[in-house]
Amino acid sequence: MNSKVCQNNKVRIIAGPCAVESEDQLIAVCKHLNKLGLTYVRAGAYKPRLNPHSFQGLGSAGFDIIKKCTNKYNLKSVSEVVDEKSLHEAIDCIDVLQVGTRNMTNYSLLKAIGYYTNKTNIPVILKRGMSSKVSEWITASDYISEKGNDNIILCERGIRTFEDSTRFTLDISSVSVAKRQSIYPVCVDVSHSAGNAGIVPDLAKAAVACGADAVMIEVHPDPQNAKCDGLQQLSLQAFEKLIADIKPIAKALNKEII
Ligand code: PEP
Ligand code: MN
Repeated sequence: MNSKVCQNNKVRIIAGPCAVESEDQLIAVCKHLNKLGLTYVRAGAYKPRLNPHSFQGLGSAGFDIIKKCTNKYNLKSVSEVVDEKSLHEAIDCIDVLQVGTRNMTNYSLLKAIGYYTNKTNIPVILKRGMSSKVSEWITASDYISEKGNDNIILCERGIRTFEDSTRFTLDISSVSVAKRQSIYPVCVDVSHSAGNAGIVPDLAKAAVACGADAVMIEVHPDPQNAKCDGLQQLSLQAFEKLIADIKPIAKALNKEII
């Protein structure tokens, strides 16, 4: 994924578990993505959780598993960095860095990412802060680009509103606004916004129809026993159906799902 070439006729699906939990778990997902002809797998090794007693991720051991599995199935990895330590670890083994919603305003982290990736220009997915305006989100991307890496993908992931029937309110109009007001491709994370696997397919269809350059979807081989975000993760079967359902939508827009 390169933000300069991302806005072409492809819709990149970034699917995988909320967190890497074990090699077997990630192998099951990677095998399935590979079978479906997809390219990118997401998996969190460092998990910024609301509750300090919740599963915090496998950390650097998680990055090792991600690297092993993506090499085996020839996939590209997407994983979150939360501080300078995880950034340095990820630079060596992850293909696409992710900044989570809770760190969109962590400007020292954004500057460090731009600075330490200015030679490699590794792609960086910048999630929208859950309480940030589109303009603040786009401006935050300047902290990365001004240090030398402008290979950025913006990611809408839902915002806080009065509405609590979904986990966050997916601001679908931000896709259109961000694509007009920034030079970067836009991804939509339909899982953290929905918060519920039943709603995810509809949001994914809306994201593709709205012109998203990428769609992020949480997928787990056994969602009921997931260590985090089990409610919103799709089973491998539900994910396969969703991919079949969004292909005609992409095709109608002269785009291809990869
Ligand atoms: C994630 O994608 O794993 C994640 C934690 O998302 P967000 O930062 O949008 O909550
Ligand atoms: Mn999650």
